[in-house]
Amino acid sequence: MGGDGGTHGVGATARPVPRARVWRLLLVTTLALGPAAGCAVPPGDAAPPGPTTGAPATAGRGAGPTTTRTHPPPVPTAASSPSPSPSPEPPAFEASVGPITPELAARMHASWRPGCPVPLEDLRHVTVRHHDMAGAVVTGELVVHADVADGLVEVFRTLFDARLPLTSVRLVDDFGADDDASMAADNTSAFNCRAVTGGSGWSEHAYGRAVDVNPVENPYVRGGTVLPPAGAAFVDRPDAPGVVHDGDAVVRAFAEHGWAWGGHWSSPKDYQHFSTTGR
Ligand SMILES: [Zn+2]
Repeated sequence: MGGDGGTHGVGATARPVPRARVWRLLLVTTLALGPAAGCAVPPGDAAPPGPTTGAPATAGRGAGPTTTRTHPPPVPTAASSPSPSPSPEPPAFEASVGPITPELAARMHASWRPGCPVPLEDLRHVTVRHHDMAGAVVTGELVVHADVADGLVEVFRTLFDARLPLTSVRLVDDFGADDDASMAADNTSAFNCRAVTGGSGWSEHAYGRAVDVNPVENPYVRGGTVLPPAGAAFVDRPDAPGVVHDGDAVVRAFAEHGWAWGGHWSSPKDYQHFSTTGR
């Protein structure tokens, strides 16, 4: 766990550090329009910095206590247009990490109950921007253990930059905490206080230390059992959008932050499953 991200109040009406954001944008703009070699802006064609900083209007929406935002490199083609209207900035990665608020706790009545191995205070609500299967940039949410929240944000930052499409990133509570229903919806999710698939004892998901990624494209396979059933089309691991392959950017991104892949297991093969414990 890093920093104090999980302990602040959400402050729904507060705009987090708009000034810092503006300064960062100005800095980026200055760098983009500066005299540095390789800059794509022709001399004399540089627009004043004011109109090019329209991006803050898109910032801050739904921001949690520790929203992070990175700016992509300046878009070279933007400089070729003398139009005074600012070019739309490509969506940047955004994420937040926050505590389980009373409202969220009420929403989690299906996935958490007294007797679960991790108290709500040790869980975090994480929002992340991601690409969906249609190529749109949308915001998803997960619940994970506080110890792994910041690292998971970095994993999702890498997945965003790699443009990995994720069909859906929603809490299992949106599916009644029914793992079969969540998987059938191809939903990427993390925390769920449930038993391990095909056995007794807590799943790593019950500790918030496991994430299932695109379950349809990356099914759980044990003998003739394929979960979800629609994942049967992906048992042969085709090179298709959202499919995770050994050594690819997804596996590497998770591994970099200590998450092991269930695709490395001999049996079952759990292609959707990443955990920090290797279980
Ligand atoms: Zn899993």
